[in-house]
Amino acid sequence: MTLFSLPEFQQLQQTIQHCTSTDVEQALTSRHPGILDLAALISPAAEPFMEEMARRSALLTAQRFGRTIQLYAPIYLSNYCTNRCAYCGFSADNRIARRCLTFDEAEAEADILHKRGFQHILLVSGEAESAVDVEYLETIALRLRGRFAAVSIEVQPLSTAHYARLFKAGITAVAVYQETYDQEMYKQVHLSGKKTDYHYRLETPARVAAAGMREVGIGALLGLTDWRAEGLAIGLHLAWLRKNFWSTGVTVSFPRLRPAAGAFSPLVPVSEKNLSQLIFGLRLFDPDVGLVLSTREEARYRDGMLGLGPTRYSAGSCTAPGGYSHPDLTDGEQFSVGDLRTMEEVSLAIAAKGCDPVSKDWDSAFQN
Ligand code: SF4
Repeated sequence: MTLFSLPEFQQLQQTIQHCTSTDVEQALTSRHPGILDLAALISPAAEPFMEEMARRSALLTAQRFGRTIQLYAPIYLSNYCTNRCAYCGFSADNRIARRCLTFDEAEAEADILHKRGFQHILLVSGEAESAVDVEYLETIALRLRGRFAAVSIEVQPLSTAHYARLFKAGITAVAVYQETYDQEMYKQVHLSGKKTDYHYRLETPARVAAAGMREVGIGALLGLTDWRAEGLAIGLHLAWLRKNFWSTGVTVSFPRLRPAAGAFSPLVPVSEKNLSQLIFGLRLFDPDVGLVLSTREEARYRDGMLGLGPTRYSAGSCTAPGGYSHPDLTDGEQFSVGDLRTMEEVSLAIAAKGCDPVSKDWDSAFQN
């Protein structure tokens, strides 16, 4: 299997900094924007063009996806983690209440979301094989697959063979964010554990696609380093996955750092305007990519972005294991969410903007 590799992070930064308003104008009129066009669109030189970018992003999004927003909710299975990531509430050195759901508890969480109308769920866990391994995920997938249109996972990186096994059990998508594509920053914030291996993580989306998964989610945690260079790295990763695994869909997420146990503060500010520029730039670069805006962002911002580029929203999310069955549980959450609205409230807000909230856009019958 060919491996994805990136230029030096500083080189990405320099490419972006050299972009001029002429480069931005060219990128905006290009029929097939390339990676240098993306660099221009997310550069400081593009800031005066934000309105035009938003207009084009909205048009392309409507052409490729209609005015739909697909809704999903996470189920946190476990907050045990063997890694020490400086920015995360689940980091092994944080003193939080740790728990791993039993199969029945996980099913109870899923039942609650099913009754609320969710058809897409994302199973999330910290990275601890002793708590959540392939057998555990396989059992849960087999128990839930008949109830949901799509079951995705966001867990520790696995081998291709393990992803293939989970695909067979009913998992259709895997999210695995690089956190930061800047190798130096990666070393600084990943203090110990398996996650310190930058390259193993970087190669994970390719293993997911090679296993035949329907979709892979990539992204970077915004707030660790230069968001523009992270955006260019995401664009390169996205284009590489498209070229090498054309039959696997790709989504990009934009998690901005949120308050979490451990009191880690973002190292660099990333404003809503910055985030919007990144979203519009990626939409113009790849009109077919799914763009995910989670409940990390506040309701006001998420409502404002409806119809402009994102295609998938989480709703009614809880980030503590067992939190749907026990709403009073807040100790043990990964981060505090910014949009606390229920699925119904988010759906109403989506409809109020003339968009369609979609709970089901896939059925396993399609793949047989
Ligand atoms: S980011 Fe993931 S791997 Fe790192 S501490 Fe949190 S749950 Fe563990």
